[in-house]
Amino acid sequence: MEEIHGIVIVGGGICGLATARALHGKGISSLVLEKYETLRIDGVAIGIHTNGWRALEQLGIAAELRDTATLITEYHNVWQKDNKSTHIPVSGMDPTDPKRKDLVEALAKNLPAGTIRFGCGIEAIVADSADGHCTVLSTADSNTIKAKVLIGCDGANSVVARYLGLGNPSYLPRLVTLGLTSYPNGHPFGPQFLRFAGDDFAIGRLPVSENLVHFFVSRPSPSTAGFHDEGAAQEYVLEKLPEFPAEIAEMVRRCEPGRESLKTLTRVWYRPPWQMLLGRFQRGAVTVAGDAMHVMGPFVGQGGSAALEDAVVLARALSRAVPPGWGGTGDAAGTSGDHDKRRISVALGRYVGERRARLVMLSLESFLIGTWVTTKSLVKRLVCVAILALLGSHSRRNANYDCGRL
Ligand SMILES: Cc1cc2nc3c(=O)[nH]c(=O)nc-3n(C[C@H](O)[C@H](O)[C@H](O)COP(=O)(O)OP(=O)(O)OC[C@H]3O[C@@H](n4cnc5c(N)ncnc54)[C@H](O)[C@@H]3O)c2cc1C
Repeated sequence: MEEIHGIVIVGGGICGLATARALHGKGISSLVLEKYETLRIDGVAIGIHTNGWRALEQLGIAAELRDTATLITEYHNVWQKDNKSTHIPVSGMDPTDPKRKDLVEALAKNLPAGTIRFGCGIEAIVADSADGHCTVLSTADSNTIKAKVLIGCDGANSVVARYLGLGNPSYLPRLVTLGLTSYPNGHPFGPQFLRFAGDDFAIGRLPVSENLVHFFVSRPSPSTAGFHDEGAAQEYVLEKLPEFPAEIAEMVRRCEPGRESLKTLTRVWYRPPWQMLLGRFQRGAVTVAGDAMHVMGPFVGQGGSAALEDAVVLARALSRAVPPGWGGTGDAAGTSGDHDKRRISVALGRYVGERRARLVMLSLESFLIGTWVTTKSLVKRLVCVAILALLGSHSRRNANYDCGRL
């Protein structure tokens, strides 16, 4: 079987759904192909800063997510070894991270019926040798889908990124356990983001709502090979529990290992800044967005927000190249002669150019903090601190970014 579509998005995660939603906002149809049979609502909470909330406003779903959110008013940093702590008030006040489930569901329910096709994993991509205007996608169940525009939102291990010739992302030997703890009668922590640096572990804790708290614990992996089994990795991270302050240990214990509200990342994937600077993120009418383009460690907490920005910028760029109503199936997919193809290619080139400038800085900052956290070399640590100071990484520059109107 062979079908032809205007715009195909591979991956129905946060970025794929947000991109389809942004295109829909511009009157352009798309088809999202997701390899799992249902929406992937697992996961814990997603870091969304002011820049991400701005993008959510453009996507028209900020209001419903804000309904239950708490506003963070202070960062509380603690260095256990030095017995030192700081309190930094937050100006501008970001609402806290939404649950990943709430964000995914809000994006999906605001799409026209039939936009997402589940159980459709893409295994291979080739340029269409017959007419040169399409890309041909082969699905896991041996079907063929032709796309006039192909957008890869298929995460860190992206098949579309491989088609573009981007290498596999790198990883840091660090384990991160994310959790959500529920307090039916309200939690006692207040609107504060706690960042706690222990001897060989780090903890973050921030409220999601009055009754829900999001936390992460990170610890170096015992070897560069890391863990393949999530359960074993989780056990290793939580071995440190007895060294946590009592209040934090109690919060982690309440979350109950093995439950859905606890997730451990066995590797911290990232694309280094030089790949962001030089990588080829577009080939004609094919491009990537979200983690497929710029997976980054959790050190600046911008992966989710940057994926939402991608969606807004990409839809805005494409809407300048194709008319409203474009992008459906078969005949409705719109003509795609040489003229169209050129316009689309230029539009995607603009998208990549606009995003590259922003993402090089984000990935550089995340890379420097990641290196600072993981290296044992004093020289490297000093270099990282110096460059971070030059970049003004303590400012809210990243969070204040505005990707503009849809
Ligand atoms: C299940 C899940 C839970 C997560 N939980 C958290 C969390 O709690 N906290 C956090 O900070 N981050 C979490 N993340 C990561 C976070 O969602 C991303 O870093 C960020 O939001 C960017 O999203 P993305 O859409 O680019 O990538 P992803 O969220 O990774 O989404 C990629 C999507 O593409 C699909 N896909 C991949 N390959 C193919 C293919 N070949 N064909 C078709 N579909 C394909 C995947 O199934 C997935 O749905 C999670 C990711 C996933 C997939």
